[in-house]
Amino acid sequence: MKVTNKHNVPETLVSLARTDYYSKGGADYSVTEIISPPRIQRLRAKHWDDMEQDVSDMLWQLLGSALHVVAERGNHPDYITEERLNAEIDGVRLSGAIDIQRVTPEGILITDYKFTSAWALRQDKPDWEAQQNIYAWLVNKAKGKQVIGVQICALIRDWSRREASVKPDYPQAPIQVIDLPLWPLHKTEHYIRDRLELHRTSKVAADWEEDLPQCTDEERWLRGASFAVMKTGKKRAIRVCETKEEANQIMGTLQVEDKPYIEERPGEAVRCVNDFCGVAKWCSQYQKELKGESK
Ligand code: SF4
Repeated sequence: MKVTNKHNVPETLVSLARTDYYSKGGADYSVTEIISPPRIQRLRAKHWDDMEQDVSDMLWQLLGSALHVVAERGNHPDYITEERLNAEIDGVRLSGAIDIQRVTPEGILITDYKFTSAWALRQDKPDWEAQQNIYAWLVNKAKGKQVIGVQICALIRDWSRREASVKPDYPQAPIQVIDLPLWPLHKTEHYIRDRLELHRTSKVAADWEEDLPQCTDEERWLRGASFAVMKTGKKRAIRVCETKEEANQIMGTLQVEDKPYIEERPGEAVRCVNDFCGVAKWCSQYQKELKGESK
């Protein structure tokens, strides 16, 4: 993939962006690889040499890498940071790097850092749950230790103090620790086998893009319609609400002379529309949708 520098940022950042820190540690699959959509994985592999991204669009990726370096420095005797573990299932070697393991007398508590948005944090996150439970499985298989819990330490990049003060369901601080359900090991093994099978068959189908499994609405980060409360003559919304009822309530607090109105904004598949997967222009599923053809 080519990394461009359209905004003339310091070359040190560009060189950082060009460095591939991603490693499977000699395994057949990494944990992040098997939980991610096979369509994205295969299209990225196929079009890697033609992909292009500007360093200015890689801010959060760069900060994500930086966070892992900083997190490693926060030494504490009860915590293991950035440990890579490997284990085999049906002859396939699986590898994952765990951000934090807190060692307690009862067992290990696993925590992963995630940069996220306030909106994303309020959606279901099945991929987070699956990822942490595979880490728990790895700890059990590779170290023979019991895991007592899995959680996320979410760092909310667009957190707003104002939103927090007016919306009770909005995250009340820019850092949130969230407990996730801990699966029984047999459920995790079943999940891993299903995902491995999906990725294996996708590798076979990679030459026939039409045959690749479709990304699900969840994987496409499908966002429902929103309702922007506007003042006549102003371009920026006073507030963007998730429901019409909420927008109507805000309308009731505004001055009639401002001529407020509600602008309904259609929902969209955020990952496709913003090309966050990097392969939107080669993806028939999304291209057909743009042309108004069925998925
Ligand atoms: S464009 Fe959308 S549907 Fe296509 S690979 Fe990317 S996320 Fe999946």
